[in-house]
Amino acid sequence: MTQHPVRTARRAQTTLAPTRGRLQVLVGGRARRPRRVAMLSVHTSPLHQPGTGDAGGMNVYIVELAKRLADLDIEVEVFTRATSSDLPPTVELAPGVLVRHVTAGPYEGLIKEDLPAQLCAFTHGVLRTEAGHRPGHYDLVHSHYWLSGQVGWLAAERWGVPLVHTMHTMGKVKNAALAEGDTPEPAARLIGESQVVEAADRLIANTADEAGELAQHYGARPDQLAVVHPGVNLEVFRPGDRAAARSALGLPQDAVVLLFAGRIQPLKAPDVLLRAVSVLLDRRPELRDRLVVPVVGGPSGTGLAEPKSLQKLAAQLGICDVVRFHPPVGQPELAQWYRAATALVMPSYSESFGLVALEAQACGTPVVAAAVGGLPVAVRDGETGTLVPGHDPQDWARALEPYALQPELVARQGEAAARHAARFGWGAAAGGTAEVYAGALVRPDAWLGGGTRRRRA
Ligand code: UDP
Repeated sequence: MTQHPVRTARRAQTTLAPTRGRLQVLVGGRARRPRRVAMLSVHTSPLHQPGTGDAGGMNVYIVELAKRLADLDIEVEVFTRATSSDLPPTVELAPGVLVRHVTAGPYEGLIKEDLPAQLCAFTHGVLRTEAGHRPGHYDLVHSHYWLSGQVGWLAAERWGVPLVHTMHTMGKVKNAALAEGDTPEPAARLIGESQVVEAADRLIANTADEAGELAQHYGARPDQLAVVHPGVNLEVFRPGDRAAARSALGLPQDAVVLLFAGRIQPLKAPDVLLRAVSVLLDRRPELRDRLVVPVVGGPSGTGLAEPKSLQKLAAQLGICDVVRFHPPVGQPELAQWYRAATALVMPSYSESFGLVALEAQACGTPVVAAAVGGLPVAVRDGETGTLVPGHDPQDWARALEPYALQPELVARQGEAAARHAARFGWGAAAGGTAEVYAGALVRPDAWLGGGTRRRRA
């Protein structure tokens, strides 16, 4: 994991030193500690099952990051919108990590696109919670995705603390790489994102490329930008016995398993995998009896409009005998799918990072991925998998063929993949994030924005 804020001038004044198990920020000789962070995740809860609807990599990111920050003695309270009347006001996710359910609008029936109208109610809930504590309860706000950024903007200003924001995805980047016929992100989102970028003290990008996109598309300043690679839970996702995984999942031992895992939506391009499989079978009909293409996940985003479109495509292509659809599963079972797979296939049009790529590699499985977003960081082309430029099914079939025919390639790249992924633990991601927090907490006069921020007495 690298953590290299583009900003260096202010960082130079910051030193991190572990003292009595706590993270110390030494500022000109004075110690300053991030003690408690208000983490905002308006539109999706860290308690939701990822892999369908609005729950995906960001949920995993928040859960893992929060736990590892708590290990560094930084308490985290995650605010999320209550989506059921059964939910308790608070849930302890792990020691030092509390999830707070905020009532903002009706529990059910709202889609993500409705949520801008509930941001005022959500902000009200966040501010009321803080008002029930002594002043200074939260040292810092860390918002995730632009909707939360809007709330964080107000909360940080009201409390006089820094705002750290992680975009996860950016409307302008998505719109620049849309799948054919997919719906672009609306202007309201693009405007909202620009406002958050302007308000944030620090912007955490998954990769240097993402930091570049923040600067190019949203005018982020170098002194705001920091790069922290996300991680992978190396306890859950670790190499294992492929034969045992296949038995557990009912897959034949001699199968060629080309796995898709994640949310089913045009942006992730599972259709490209299906079309490539059809081309591959035309070229290599002898593979037909052995080829299995599991699609693990549920519909999401614009994919919800036609949740059965992928099944229909499989029927049109005449490959229903090969493709198997499975609802989303918990991470231990997903690890079994990765171990069972010959390769994980990610033909996405856009990915801010692509956690499934790291997870599969951590299980010793090579990844065939589109050369977009964070995937060129997650996958080492020719070493731990293959990066494919573009989305032409012919190119994808050519890229997949060696994995179907050369078990020694799968074994060699699988071993390299596990070694590569082992470098991306969440502990390192949390350490990098804590360093960004520390940088944001240094010299409050600087982040007070020339006195525009109100600090409470
Ligand atoms: N995931 C899961 N169960 C599933 C499919 C996916 O738990 O059946 C998780 C997976 O482990 C990964 C996340 O969903 O951590 C997807 O993250 P990624 O960054 O790949 O995609 P995103 O959803 O953020 O677009």
